[in-house]
Amino acid sequence: MANGHSRVIRRTAPDRRVLEADVCVVGAGISGVTAATLLGRHGRRVVLVDACPWVGGQAVGVPIGTIGGLFSSGPEPYLLTSIFATEILAELTEQDACFYQRSRRARTVNVVYDEVVLMRIFERKLRDAGVRLLLGGVLAEVERDDRHIRAVRVATRFGPCEIRARAFVETSGDAALSWLAGLACRTATFPIYGTQIVIVEGVDYSIADDPHEIMWEAERLFAEKRHEYGLSREKGVLFPLPSRSMAVLNVTHVATPLDPIAFWEEAAHGREEGELAFQLLKNEYPEAFGKARIRTMGHPGIRQTRSIVGRSMLTVDDVVAGTRFEDAVARVAWPIELHDTASGYRWEPFPDGHVHYVPLRSLVHAEADNLVAAGRCVDADPFALSSIRVMGPCMAMAAAAAEAIDLFLDGYASVHEVPASAVQERVRPNLESRMEWPPEVATRPVLRPRS
Ligand SMILES: Cc1cc2nc3c(=O)[nH]c(=O)nc-3n(C[C@H](O)[C@H](O)[C@H](O)COP(=O)(O)OP(=O)(O)OC[C@H]3O[C@@H](n4cnc5c(N)ncnc54)[C@H](O)[C@@H]3O)c2cc1C
Repeated sequence: MANGHSRVIRRTAPDRRVLEADVCVVGAGISGVTAATLLGRHGRRVVLVDACPWVGGQAVGVPIGTIGGLFSSGPEPYLLTSIFATEILAELTEQDACFYQRSRRARTVNVVYDEVVLMRIFERKLRDAGVRLLLGGVLAEVERDDRHIRAVRVATRFGPCEIRARAFVETSGDAALSWLAGLACRTATFPIYGTQIVIVEGVDYSIADDPHEIMWEAERLFAEKRHEYGLSREKGVLFPLPSRSMAVLNVTHVATPLDPIAFWEEAAHGREEGELAFQLLKNEYPEAFGKARIRTMGHPGIRQTRSIVGRSMLTVDDVVAGTRFEDAVARVAWPIELHDTASGYRWEPFPDGHVHYVPLRSLVHAEADNLVAAGRCVDADPFALSSIRVMGPCMAMAAAAAEAIDLFLDGYASVHEVPASAVQERVRPNLESRMEWPPEVATRPVLRPRS
């Protein structure tokens, strides 16, 4: 040692850091954050791994910008999923970092949020629950002993790391854990498009009495002028966040192949279109967008790629029928929203008051005893998945996954043996309650006709 430095040379393979945990949660999107926090609160030693160097997955890094599927549909929507969600909503509201947007298309309420605030809320929840974070860690290998996953190995910029755990939660969105473990997975037989989201700031909401008016006018302009600006999607959507002078533009379609080269080639087109969509608003709607700028274009948004093969696949017939399975653990009212063409998407809302359910069997991998999934990689056909993959149901599925794993760790030989009734007992508010939130949203008329 001299002058405060020392000379170092790597002579052997780098040491692998090894962590022991009760549960390893793979994927720190809204599903993984929910599951990890709830398991941490149960006193479990939890490691949460993500390839990205932030928590919140797509909710933060894309950023999606709008929580959908939390409320029922109809003139007086109530909260369908309350576990964990009410904490998040309360903090977003307290920090004036969200907007309860009335959706005429879905006849429900969406929550538009500031992603930086959401990320910090997630970080504090995880810290307070004692969850250990391993960010920037890409899954490289999975050790499996027949029906038991034993360990995952990740590559990080600081060297390799191994997490050995008694149970695993698959919240990677792409079923990356199951895939690398050599377990059966599903993919759609047709492409499902993602979107390059554009977050805009400096929007002048003072020109309208109601931010929804700016939203409607922007959406009208997207439909009318899209050819002039070379936009491939027929209908673009804007979500307003007036307290921050921000707006979320969900206007593009990008293919999201699970291929490391092709993915980023497609992403480049999405970025171009995103910029053109912003230019359209700036030129055609200068009163509201003349002084606006692009605040961020994050990771290209991935809707649906690969799912687990669970004990049972949720089908679109069950979604449409609203089948209440005997092992139902999550309640959903979001429409079928399948982005299966470059120019459009199927949008099939349900009648007011309709709810459908996700069974525990669709979360539990058929071929493993210590693995439960949640979020956009649970077992469902592509149509059914398109109605349950939004963030409200993701939180509900994650709460159920956390409770199933916690019960399993209490002494069951397999997650398949955990009684669904015990999980249901713990997530009862998500299945039964009709909570108004916040009261002024639920009581005022949500769906006024367009003038
Ligand atoms: C463009 C777009 C718009 C959408 N609009 C809305 C909307 O308005 N409202 C709404 O509620 N929902 C919307 N959705 C759906 C919703 O955002 C997602 O389905 C939801 O965020 C999924 O959460 P998740 O936690 O399951 O997965 P993700 O948020 O995708 O998280 C998965 C995490 O796993 C990590 N991961 C994946 N593979 C690996 C690996 N090999 N190693 C380590 N980590 C890995 C990823 O880095 C990621 O952080 C939209 C989705 C898209 C793509």
